[in-house]
Amino acid sequence: NSASIESEGAVSIKDSEHLFQEINDRLSVRLHDLVQTDFFKYYKLNLFKECPFWIENGQCVNEACAVETIDESNVPEMWRSNVLGALQTSASGSLFQPFKSCEFREQDFCVVEDENDRDGTYVDLLDNPERFTGYAGPSAGRIWKSIYEENCFNMVDRMDSKSNLPGMTLVNLDKYAALRPNIQDQIEIEVDDTCFEKRVYYRLISGLHSSISIHICNEYLNQTTGVWGPNYDCFNKRIVPYPERLQNTYFGYVVLLRAISKMSDYLKNYEFCTGHTEQDAQVKSMVTDLVNTATSCPGTFDEKLMFSSPNSRILKEEFKERFRNVSRIMDCVGCDKCRLWGKLQVSGLGTALKVLFSYDDEFFNPKVNPNLLTRTEIVALFNAFNRFSESLKIVKEFRELYKRVNVNS
Ligand code: FAD
Repeated sequence: NSASIESEGAVSIKDSEHLFQEINDRLSVRLHDLVQTDFFKYYKLNLFKECPFWIENGQCVNEACAVETIDESNVPEMWRSNVLGALQTSASGSLFQPFKSCEFREQDFCVVEDENDRDGTYVDLLDNPERFTGYAGPSAGRIWKSIYEENCFNMVDRMDSKSNLPGMTLVNLDKYAALRPNIQDQIEIEVDDTCFEKRVYYRLISGLHSSISIHICNEYLNQTTGVWGPNYDCFNKRIVPYPERLQNTYFGYVVLLRAISKMSDYLKNYEFCTGHTEQDAQVKSMVTDLVNTATSCPGTFDEKLMFSSPNSRILKEEFKERFRNVSRIMDCVGCDKCRLWGKLQVSGLGTALKVLFSYDDEFFNPKVNPNLLTRTEIVALFNAFNRFSESLKIVKEFRELYKRVNVNS
């Protein structure tokens, strides 16, 4: 009865939709301005890693699938391979990585793009907007199916099911409060053997999926006229009939927001270094302003409620492994532009999970741990947050338009 679980989570987010839109009204402009800056618009990634799970031969040949890369001479000098390479080989350099051959650090929830990767390429994210590309069919379907199938927490499901009662029952909502902000009481809901963490995994993926669909519908190519613009049939087909999927996008937004709030001190003291003093000072002040606004918003997600059961250690490892697999699956996406945004957003969500679940609050002391996150992780986190924020804004605009059309007709 997974439907009951979905609606149980959906009610709380639905009740809070208005609140999230208000929060987003305050944050979206700031985020939009921030991702225009050099520090946040340049992202280095390896777009051409082999798909580790199957032979992917569904390459999208549409022009819209292509990624515009940039020559390294266009990015700040300190990020170029020759400079990073020199730093990396010196044990006193800040980027010295003695364990570079490992794919993950213990705390990582995803594959983190490596700025030292010689096969990596820089892209200017502003040159490559996430929008309709025409990538669809069995290749795209297989990716989504594989990602949802990662949501199979076998071992934990079996353990967790012992402690749950089937059918309608009174449960203490402590465990569910992270999905139900502001409701701390007991309430009658249906429970089954789906554990809370598994639902969180599903909701993050489904929220990302809806957010991508929203961007596709909002920036659609009319293939007859060649004009880009919103496609309302697309919204009516993909978004409107599935409110619970849309609520999952709000959920993803809330998780990203909480991660940024949790490390507010760290971010306010981070050196946003491009080598251009004036610009760097401006980025720092923009981030500070954004973070202050984020922390002044009401708390909406309490990560301490996750991984709090007796099985939490195993569950957390399994959750991490599942999420890491999602980032590996991104290498199988058969459209370069979709792969770029898929990788970046999974990395952004993975960074948020790492912030929330790998470190206690005191770790985010910038004086003690200045290099806790890489530039790539910070860029991915804020750009993913901006994508979700744009989705919320698009939904709001779409609703207002829908109301106007219905009033006038
Ligand atoms: P799909 O979106 O492929 O969905 C497949 C099935 O999943 C649906 O039939 C439905 O049962 C289920 N489903 C759909 N949405 C949800 C949800 N939110 N929660 C739970 N279940 C759901 N295309 C572009 O044009 N531009 C892009 O930038 C782009 N980026 C992509 C990035 C990734 C990582 C992937 C895997 C695909 C991307 N695509 C992109 C393709 C796009 O997501 C769709 O797959 C494609 O448009 C075909 O859509 P569809 O309507 O057939 O259903």
